[in-house]
Amino acid sequence: MADNNLGQQVVLLPEGSSRVLGRDAQRTNIAVGVAVANAVKTTLGPKGMDKMLVSDLGDIIITNDGATILEEMNVEHPVAKILVDVAKTQDREVGDGTTSVIITAGGLLKGAEDLLEQGIHPTIIIKGYKMAAAKAAEILSKSSKSVDINDDQTLQKIAMVSIGSKNIGDEDAKSQITKQVIKAVKQVMDKGQDGKFHIDHDFIKIEKKAGGNVSDTTLINGVLIDKEVAHPEMPKSITNAKIALLDVALEIEKTETDAKIEITSPDQIQSYLQQEERMLKEMVEKVKKSGANFVVTQKGIDDVAQHYLSKAEIMAVRRVKKSDIEKLARATGAKIVTSLDDLSPEDLGHAGLVEERKISGEQMVFVEKCKDPKSVTLFIRGGTQQVVDEAERSITDVIGALSATLENDGKYVIGGGAIEIDLADGLREFSGEVGGREQLAIQKFADALELIPKTLAESAGIDAIDTLVQLRSKHKLKEGKSFGVDVYKNSIGDMNKISIYEPEKMKVQSIYSASEAAEMILRIDDIISSKGRSPAGAGGMPPGGMSGME
Ligand code: ADP
Ligand code: MG
Repeated sequence: MADNNLGQQVVLLPEGSSRVLGRDAQRTNIAVGVAVANAVKTTLGPKGMDKMLVSDLGDIIITNDGATILEEMNVEHPVAKILVDVAKTQDREVGDGTTSVIITAGGLLKGAEDLLEQGIHPTIIIKGYKMAAAKAAEILSKSSKSVDINDDQTLQKIAMVSIGSKNIGDEDAKSQITKQVIKAVKQVMDKGQDGKFHIDHDFIKIEKKAGGNVSDTTLINGVLIDKEVAHPEMPKSITNAKIALLDVALEIEKTETDAKIEITSPDQIQSYLQQEERMLKEMVEKVKKSGANFVVTQKGIDDVAQHYLSKAEIMAVRRVKKSDIEKLARATGAKIVTSLDDLSPEDLGHAGLVEERKISGEQMVFVEKCKDPKSVTLFIRGGTQQVVDEAERSITDVIGALSATLENDGKYVIGGGAIEIDLADGLREFSGEVGGREQLAIQKFADALELIPKTLAESAGIDAIDTLVQLRSKHKLKEGKSFGVDVYKNSIGDMNKISIYEPEKMKVQSIYSASEAAEMILRIDDIISSKGRSPAGAGGMPPGGMSGME
């Protein structure tokens, strides 16, 4: 970081590469960060707009999801990439709150720019930001309330806020969807050794098919397989299915038939084929003997085996993804068998109903009505491909918000910008206690958090500054703490009254991630771009020697 510009020309870099140093580097990086935040800003909240993203191939995505927008924008600049990573981390860790985290990071960078301009060293800013983030987390924990796992009504409210900002149908459809998601999450949730709940998102399978309406989205207590039944003569519907899951083919392996067989007469061909048929028949016998009436294999099923299975009235599906087979195992209690000789009645799983149904012109196999399944499927429907895609992203957000709540002792806070006003208040007070130059950074942190209510106000078309002033004075009163931006009434309002609740974990993660991203970007004082890349186009290196150049 020291100024080692001695005015001498020392050749360090290959010809054609460029370098931006010190303040200029910071200025460039901050400008990029702020630009990225501005790009997603307009999508925040229920009155936020959507973005339409068109890929090189002409594929269209219409979305409101911060992480998706940034990912699809294919940003080039390394600073922009850091922010994309932040959104992705938020998505992975919490599943919701991606737009907020980027807006906050942008605000922190903007604040840092002001301080740098006043001659405050980046290390002071970084220190102040770290203190502010920790303090904010502390306040969040104190302001949070806790929802009981059986309190579906409150969980539903948290879910509705999460889905509320997505444009995928009316309130009724959203209410219907969130109810299914709550059931799904609770169904796969289990209690760990630590006494905390855990929700493995892998066990909530999401299948989608364009067609119908988003309100037709259903929870299947089992697994939906996007495959058809192997043979038209097999049964299409089985009640009380006994399920065999195979990781073995009902075929004669190629290598076996390739083994040196010299056929010299038609008789031999005949007996050879007969032998093959007998082997396949024996395979089916083994399945039949186990008592299975529904077979799913990751591998293939020979035509002859299909024929014998049909005759035995066994339904079969072949070439099913390994991940689906694993989900079927969890949902039905079946054991995945790797050798037919090992297949026994104890290995079989159960489902109340297995049925092939035609959905929008394609056959799908529903394995449903499983008893207490540890794996379920949310089957998403919607008018167009874009709608089902956005519905999937929205549902993923809801799963994330619910998990973030349930896995974090049910802790939630008041949204609509209310909690951010409280945090900003708390931080401003804290800054006075801290003193020194760090206090200036802590105040900038407070300003950055207020960007959330400010942006919500802008999206609702009301004056952002007025709104902030009103909210700040409301929050001075004890009964005004839950005031935020009522985007539907275009005014400030009590967020408790309209139940705008959000997971505490989402806010904590968002604050830490935004802060870390800003700190990382502030530490950069040297942008080295390799040949052929413009200095603004590439080259910023995150600390720790990680190359930002491809
Ligand atoms: P993110 O990607 O950050 O989750 P969203 O577009 O989902 O962005 O917007 C979330 C923000 O919108 C949160 O601050 C939340 O409190 C706020 N919000 C959601 N619903 C409402 C509402 N009905 N009224 C006011 N604010 C709301
Ligand atoms: Mg959201």
